Order: sequence, then C-alpha cells, then structure tokens
Amino acid sequence: MPTYRPDSGQLPTRDAVPDQYRWDLSHICRTWDEWTSSYRELEAAVELFKGRQGTLASGPEALVGAFRAMDLMGALSYRVWYYASLRYDEDQRNNEINARRQQVQILFARQQQAGSWFNPELLAIPLETVRGWMATHPDLALYRFAIESLFHEQEHVLDERGERLLSYASRSGSVSHDSYSALTTADMKPPAVTLGDGELVTLSYGQYRALLETNRNQADRAAAYRAFHQVYADNRNTYAALYNGVLQRDWFHARARGYDSTLQAALHGNNIPTSVVETLIRVTKEGVEPLRRYQRLRRRVLGLDSYRLFDLFIPLVSHDARYAYDEVAPWIVDAVAPLGPDYQQHVREAFAGRWIDVFENDGKRSGAYSAPVYGAHPYMLLNYNETLDAIFTLAHEMGHSMHTLLAHQTQPFVYAGYTIFVAEVPSTLSEALFLDFMLERAQTRDQRAVLLQHAIDSITSTFYTQVMFADFELQAHRLVEQDQPITAEVLSGIYDTLLREYYGDVLDEEPLSSVTWARIPHFFSTPYYVYQYATCFASTARLMQDLRSSDGPTRTAGVGRYLSLLRAGGSGYPMDLLRTAGIDLSQADTVRAVASELDVLVSRLEAELNGA
Ligand SMILES: [Zn+2]
Repeated sequence: MPTYRPDSGQLPTRDAVPDQYRWDLSHICRTWDEWTSSYRELEAAVELFKGRQGTLASGPEALVGAFRAMDLMGALSYRVWYYASLRYDEDQRNNEINARRQQVQILFARQQQAGSWFNPELLAIPLETVRGWMATHPDLALYRFAIESLFHEQEHVLDERGERLLSYASRSGSVSHDSYSALTTADMKPPAVTLGDGELVTLSYGQYRALLETNRNQADRAAAYRAFHQVYADNRNTYAALYNGVLQRDWFHARARGYDSTLQAALHGNNIPTSVVETLIRVTKEGVEPLRRYQRLRRRVLGLDSYRLFDLFIPLVSHDARYAYDEVAPWIVDAVAPLGPDYQQHVREAFAGRWIDVFENDGKRSGAYSAPVYGAHPYMLLNYNETLDAIFTLAHEMGHSMHTLLAHQTQPFVYAGYTIFVAEVPSTLSEALFLDFMLERAQTRDQRAVLLQHAIDSITSTFYTQVMFADFELQAHRLVEQDQPITAEVLSGIYDTLLREYYGDVLDEEPLSSVTWARIPHFFSTPYYVYQYATCFASTARLMQDLRSSDGPTRTAGVGRYLSLLRAGGSGYPMDLLRTAGIDLSQADTVRAVASELDVLVSRLEAELNGA
C-alpha cells in the first residue's frame, strides 16, 4: 500500500487525498436525503414536545414521558448537527452546506424555546414529591441525578421578577469582553519590529509566538516581546477598566443570586467546593522548585547570560524529525496496551473504520478536535503535518474519543455527555502513555531529550501557568469582593508578585512582564475556567502513578478505576466521579503528583543533556 504524505508546498484538493485518510460520515447519515428526513423528524418532535406543557405535575408517568421525549430529541440533534457540521468542516468555503448548518442552529433555538417551560414546571413540584415518585418508579429513578442536580441549581434561582431583572442585566454583561476583543483585535494595530538581519516583521499573535519558539537570537526575541507588550502597556488603564467591568459583573451576579463569593458562584453548578481551587493554588506554589530547576537548566544549556519570559519557549535541542502517519498509527495502538486488549481494539477500530479525517486540504477547518456523535461513534478532525506536536495531538484526540465511545456505550442518553472538568483527563492520560511508549523506543540522546522537553513544556504550560492564571483571577475577584479599587497598577502588582513566587530569581527583571494580564483573553472571556486544565492534569498525574507502578495489582486496579471513570460519562458530579476513580482533588497529595512528575522528568532531561 503506497503511503500518502502531505506535500509541504501546496494544499491538495479534498478529492486528491486518498479515501482511507478521510472520515466516513455515512455512519451518521448515508445521504443528504437521509439527513433531511432526520431533520424533519427532529422538527416534528420539537413541535410535539410543546404539547406536554402543563402535564408534569400529574404524576411520574408524565414526567418519565417528557424525559424520554427530550432524550429522543437530544439523540436526533447529535446526528442532524454533526452531519452538517462535519461536512462543513471538510471545506468551509461550501455555502450550501454552511446554510444547512445554520438551519440546524435555528432549529436548536426553536427547540430551546419549545422546551423552556420544562425546568420551571418540574421545579414547581416539591422535591420530596418527585423523590417519592422515584422511589416507586424505576424508570423515573434513572433520571435521579439529572433531577437532583436541577434542584441543586435551583437553590440560587430567584423568583420570576428577580430572574427577569437579571435577564435584563445580562445584556450588558458582555460589554467588557466585547470591548476587550475590539481593542485587542479589530482596533489593534499589530506592532512591527526590525530583526537583527534587517528583516521587518509585523507581529500578529501567531507570528509573535512563532518567533519566540524558533528564533535563536535572543536580541530578536527581546525586541519582539517588548514591541508586542508595549501595546498593552500603552493601553493598560483601559485594559484595567475593562477587567474591572468583568470583576464587577461577576460580583453582581454572585451577590444577586446569594453566593458568598464569585468563586463559589462559578463552582456551584458542578458542585465543586471552593477549597479545591484554593488547595490547587496553595500546593502548586509550594511545589515550584522543579519549575525553577527546569528554567535554570534551560538558562545554562542555552548559554544565556540573562534569562527572561521571552526565553522560555525556544527548544533546547533542535529537531526536525518527521513522522509519517501510517508509521505512527500502529504506535498509537501499541501505546495503550497498558489499558487492556478491549481498549486497544477500540483504537484499532477508530483507524480501520475511518473515524479520522487526517490531512489538511483546501478549505478544511484548521486545528484538531474529537466530535462526540451520539448514535454513530466519535469522529476526529486533524490537520496532520508529521511533526512531534501532530503525533501527540493524535494521541490527545484519541483519548477524548475513547472517553466518548465508552461513555456512550455504557450510559443512557441523559448521562452520555461529560463536563470539561473531567474531559481533559483521558486526553492528557493518552498523551502520557504515548510519551512513555516513545521514550522507551527512542534510540538517541537527542530523541529522548526532545520527548522529555515536550512533556515538561506541557506540564509548565498546562499546569503551572494555568494555576498562576487562576491565582491571579482569584486575587483580583477578591479585591472587588472586599471593595478595594482595581487599577492597572494594582493588577500589575499582583502579576509581578506571582511571577516572583513562581520563578523566584530565575527570571531577570523585565518591567513589561507585569502587564501580561492584559494579554490573556481568558481573563476577559471566561473567568474561573482555566483552573480546570490544571485539575485535569493533576488527576492524570495521580492516575499515572498507579499505571506506572511496578506492582502488578496496583496497576490492574488503577486501570480498572480509570476505565470506569470513562464509562461513567456524566452520570454524577465530577468530583464524585473522580473520587470513584481514586482521585481526590481536595487532597494536597493529588496536586503534589504533578510536581513529583515534573521533578522526575527534569532529572531525566538533565541526565540526557549532561550525557550521563
Ligand atoms: Zn482536549
């Protein structure tokens, strides 16, 4: 079988990519005609659902009937949405398919309206009554977690007048973020910088990052960093005012709904205690030594007299290895051997069954994702370019897909989906297993060093940096909760202190670094979100301790608990699901697992680079 390899010169048309590297969407719908009839079916189900309004209080049968009708609409929605959406991603220039995709979005809005009576009507029935029904009706008891969590959410829902008032206020809630986006993208004139070789470079964010990751001339990196951050520094008072708008909005909502703090308001939906975030931040700060050790090693190996934030991303060892997809696919299967033959068989099926859209083509969506298509199987979109990043992305998306597959196979529809709080556990664990596999078979010092550095960089960027961000957000929100002023100076002061607490004296003085907060879009778009990457990472590190154990029974038990976490889907609150998998995020030890892992990796890298 001749191996297809992407041509770095030009993008192929979709037809030029051989079939076996393109996903087979016929498992969702065989034709557009079939899609149209599913669409009509969903449309009819939505209309029919309206007729159930006013029936719930009549008894358990009516309630079960309504839940089942919602499941049916939900399952249909997956097929109708993903067929149009995945087809669109194959070539986003296709207007006809884009129109169909938008048609589904419009139907979804109608579906939401048609079902908007359901939650208030259910919540109007006393919880004790519904619990009585569940005790005598096993069909209804299936929905217990869905019902209980809805009532839990209800604790902070206001009366009708209050909710109406909040809905009016919500219209202005996005103004700060919209202004941030406008100032940062639409109205921002990207700075230009002249490099040492005389080349003039305009710094979009993408170009700026690429320069920091590839340019081996420190003076060029410094110039790019300073030009890029100067723009934020020049507008720092505006950025501070916009961020204050975000903080004030969050505090308004928390207080209006009767929460003690903005953090509590953010975590209540998933039933996560605020101590989880507080412990995460505290323990991470106690475990910064391996991070500093890594940065000192970098400074020495790179031979730099001074070392600043713009020196953190340049690779220690240059590598230009290319990995042909057909060569890598069997590795991905081999790497998950520790998870058992059934799991491996599923991964094999994903490759053989054309679940993956591998290569870039003209018009195809960029990036990578795993799409959880209920009723078919997960699909993965890649833009595989044969780099080290690309093979780890494949391992990552495969982890998401196996989570989807096992959850969909095991759970009833209502619990088949999972929350972001657990979602990045399987993906990062899949990467960790793949790293172990690759390290084992690496032949040379450089190959090992490149892999170790990849693993270390993912810990520093996905864990330490995200916890530092969470720390910043929490401190800023707390200032507002304590009626303290928010100014550019205050925010930069927090950031500066954090940099010192994390990096100690490893980083040399760089005045512009303190304005970094203005550059982080997450702070303005999704407060209290990034910490979830870190908790997932800690969960994975904890699980990997068992999976890497030299003790057979410990390993077997760890694998069993991990697979049951995947099968559990969204059948409980994330903390509870993780606890049954043996992960207790309220324990400092769970968070410490990351620092221990980093410590081991840095020591190995040090040994490789010292030629030991
Ligand atoms: Zn992911």
